[in-house]
Amino acid sequence: MAGADRLENRQYDVIVVGAGFTGLAAASQLREAGLDVVLIEARDTVGGRVSSERFEDGVRVDTGGQFVCRDMPEVLALAKTHDRRILMAYDGGNPTYQPSIPLEKGYEIWQGVDALRERMIATDPADASLHRLTVSDWVARQEDVPDDVRRSFLRLVKGLWCRSPDDVAFFYLASNDRRITNTHSEMEAFLEDTMHALAEDMARALGDRLHLSTPVKALTYTDDAVTIDTADKKLSARRVILAVPPIMAGRLTYDPPLPETLAEAFSAWGAGSVIKLNIRYDAPFWRKKDQSGSVMWSDPQGLYACDASRPDYSGLVMFVGGPLALEWHARPAEDLQAFVAERLVAALGPQAASIREFSIRDWTDDPWSDGAYSDVIVRPGAIDAEDVLRKGLGPVRFASSELSLSYPGYVEGAIWAGKSAARTVAVELGVSAE
Ligand SMILES: Cc1cc2nc3c(=O)[nH]c(=O)nc-3n(C[C@H](O)[C@H](O)[C@H](O)COP(=O)(O)OP(=O)(O)OC[C@H]3O[C@@H](n4cnc5c(N)ncnc54)[C@H](O)[C@@H]3O)c2cc1C
Repeated sequence: MAGADRLENRQYDVIVVGAGFTGLAAASQLREAGLDVVLIEARDTVGGRVSSERFEDGVRVDTGGQFVCRDMPEVLALAKTHDRRILMAYDGGNPTYQPSIPLEKGYEIWQGVDALRERMIATDPADASLHRLTVSDWVARQEDVPDDVRRSFLRLVKGLWCRSPDDVAFFYLASNDRRITNTHSEMEAFLEDTMHALAEDMARALGDRLHLSTPVKALTYTDDAVTIDTADKKLSARRVILAVPPIMAGRLTYDPPLPETLAEAFSAWGAGSVIKLNIRYDAPFWRKKDQSGSVMWSDPQGLYACDASRPDYSGLVMFVGGPLALEWHARPAEDLQAFVAERLVAALGPQAASIREFSIRDWTDDPWSDGAYSDVIVRPGAIDAEDVLRKGLGPVRFASSELSLSYPGYVEGAIWAGKSAARTVAVELGVSAE
């Protein structure tokens, strides 16, 4: 790592703040374009909302972003560049519904949910009568749709956007979902040695351009230059890419202060809440009973499990999302462990009690993302909140998975957003970054 003097006594072409996939992708691309770039990260590790943990024998599991599918070209290309093997998730067996319902009924409901999602996507983004609705408001208006389908749709929102549908803006959910275009399951595959290892590969390639444990607190900007303040350094550049979630970008201090439009746009976002568990077993016992390991709970809402086994590891990942995550955040981890074990026994049988190891990663009050999977727009009516952020502020660009035009809220979206911000900045500085 470069010393403070070397960091401070120069003007960079670009400072990228945040070493999640957005920042890593932006910094890599700018470096390849020949620009003088430095990547500044608050945590002592890269990856941001992609992170990992090792079990006692060294086996590593993703505790943040993990899954990918064949419709996500950016992640797949990166994995190929860094020689990371992609494993297909187990696709045999049947899903389990809790409380139990006949499989046919389950499929029927999920087909209905898909159709409702298509209806949402097909709404007119310019229809002002929809702009002030929450997701719950809009769903309540779909009176021709069976109640169980509407309830399952709302549950899905809780689980995937990790907030109550009462406080997710409808126009935002529709716009977000229009950009999530996969035709194969988004949980179709994962990286053999974790998604986090891919972030580390990118970091390694950046060498001494990366500076960890350096939280940025404030920015001072003119039309064509920015100075950023960290705890003990001031760094200057011609451009800055703030590759942090919208809520974190909104918390920085700006001099001159943010224009009202930007302050308004930042205040429209709220963070999701999720807890991710990796539950290790000696073997994927559910497969012998023709169960896929995928468990969907309608009660409690916001709970989901699936098989994440690989040749060196047998286990389930489980997500506790939305209001349920906030509830469990306030309680001891041992209680959550007991609750989860009990639910898995009910769903998959008594063998589910023989848990070999357990990992819990609670993202609900993560200091550098304030939550997960994603920030979402919680203020109905704030229809230009994304566009205003995408325009940036003089020499400052805002970029994060949330602002991506492709797969917002996913690792794919983060890479897309990082590359897009890098291209914009490179053009402004007179170089090409393709
Ligand atoms: C539990 C969980 C499961 C998920 N599962 C999946 C999945 O299976 N597939 C998928 O595609 N996506 C998944 N996601 C979402 C995905 O991980 C994110 O969309 C993506 O990683 C976001 O990347 P980013 O670079 O935009 O933001 P981040 O990863 O949040 O990166 C921002 C970086 O900025 C740093 N930072 C923040 N503030 C400052 C500051 N003031 N100064 C310096 N640095 C700062 C942060 O520490 C962080 O490293 C999941 C997320 C979570 C949490």
